[in-house]
Amino acid sequence: MQFSELGLHEAVQKAVAEQGYTEPTPIQAAAIPPVLEGGDVIGIAQTGTGKTAAFTLPILTRLAKGKAAPGAVRALVLAPTRELALQIEENVRAYGRHLPLSVAVVFGGVGERPQIAALRKGCDLLVATPGRLLDLGSQGHGDFRDLEVLVLDEADRMLDMGFLPSIRRIVRALPRDRQTLMFSATLSKEIEQLTSEFQRQPKLVQVGRRSNPAETVEQAFLECPHNLKQGLLAHLLRQPGWDSVIVFSRTKHGADRICRKLEKDGVEAVAIHANRSQNQRQRALEAFKSGRVRVLVATDIASRGIDVDGITHVVNFDFPDQLEDYVHRIGRTGRAQATGKSVTFITSEDVPELRRLERLVGKPIPKPAKAEGFDYAEATRQAFAAPAPDAAPRPHHRGPGHNRREREQRAQPPRPGAWHGGRGGFGSPGGQGGQRPRGRNR
Ligand code: AMP
Repeated sequence: MQFSELGLHEAVQKAVAEQGYTEPTPIQAAAIPPVLEGGDVIGIAQTGTGKTAAFTLPILTRLAKGKAAPGAVRALVLAPTRELALQIEENVRAYGRHLPLSVAVVFGGVGERPQIAALRKGCDLLVATPGRLLDLGSQGHGDFRDLEVLVLDEADRMLDMGFLPSIRRIVRALPRDRQTLMFSATLSKEIEQLTSEFQRQPKLVQVGRRSNPAETVEQAFLECPHNLKQGLLAHLLRQPGWDSVIVFSRTKHGADRICRKLEKDGVEAVAIHANRSQNQRQRALEAFKSGRVRVLVATDIASRGIDVDGITHVVNFDFPDQLEDYVHRIGRTGRAQATGKSVTFITSEDVPELRRLERLVGKPIPKPAKAEGFDYAEATRQAFAAPAPDAAPRPHHRGPGHNRREREQRAQPPRPGAWHGGRGGFGSPGGQGGQRPRGRNR
């Protein structure tokens, strides 16, 4: 299959060729034709499969036929995190560089003014995180009355983060006669429910098996008590080929601690997590992307959607709180056609989780092995000589409050009640819930 066979605008094909893509990925080959036809599509694809281009390329082709009226938005992409929103915007700009289309992005954690100005001006395509869009919408900004296309990207993650009420309020204020595309890593019951609520006879496009980690990633599981984790990480980072590494920490403080200790060992590392400002996160990501810093330490939420080419290794320093995150984590490497490796540190507490992980990924996981060339006895001696243990053990009881979803909801409330319709396009007459006719399941 060639890009030229898909019916994309010539200017889009040119931009794609300039990106160095020679052929469409499976999700692109499957999703582009139905999106171009204008129908609703639900795309189930693992991260790193090229799904951003799968919706962006046909949307740009469709948008090329018209122009946004002053102050209006024609296509809206909702994404769970700022990082992902920025990346989508970057991709849209790259793929749309030969088209006279305007793009804007709206997300929290930075000043509202430039975003309000962008909404006033209007744009062909807007990328937004739900929380900030709802904030601005409730102040009356944004005219969505002519909206043609809505995309819910990483819908599963948006649900995990508690964005459903915000999304509902946003979608209710959009024209019913629109195209709705939804992308998710898995097809869960919740996603099916969302589909029936927001889409009309969507075509299902599925690539890869459910919840299966990227096939291209070679996964290793290494035995490692808490107090040896830092030593083992330093050992691995001394091995050849460890050129671009993401290390996953369960907590924000843990991420900072790992970073500090790496720096002490002479390894430059940067951290991204929710306690860091947007600027700090962007700077860290840039340093990592450009190759200036080879180790990025991240928490799950902050890392979601990060698209950095050429990541050679993913290290699960801490076992993920939510098993599904394992798939997202290792998907940071082995993106597109590249190969990658993941290493998961397994403490005695984590062993029971491996069974559940086996069920999730649908294949046997080998018994955790000792790391080759790592002197456990010597490392233990050194760890005891060190002033403090490296990592906080996971709480034994994972009751309320230990659940990542709950923590994220607390950290980033979707601001229920903040939305009141406004005077902008969101506030179109009858745009509030309860007034929509029954039976129109959108
Ligand atoms: P995504 O799944 O959208 O995050 O994309 C993952 C990576 O694949 C990104 O770095 C894209 O630039 C890259 N990519 C997207 N489409 C293609 C393609 N057709 N050929 C090669 N790489 C691609």
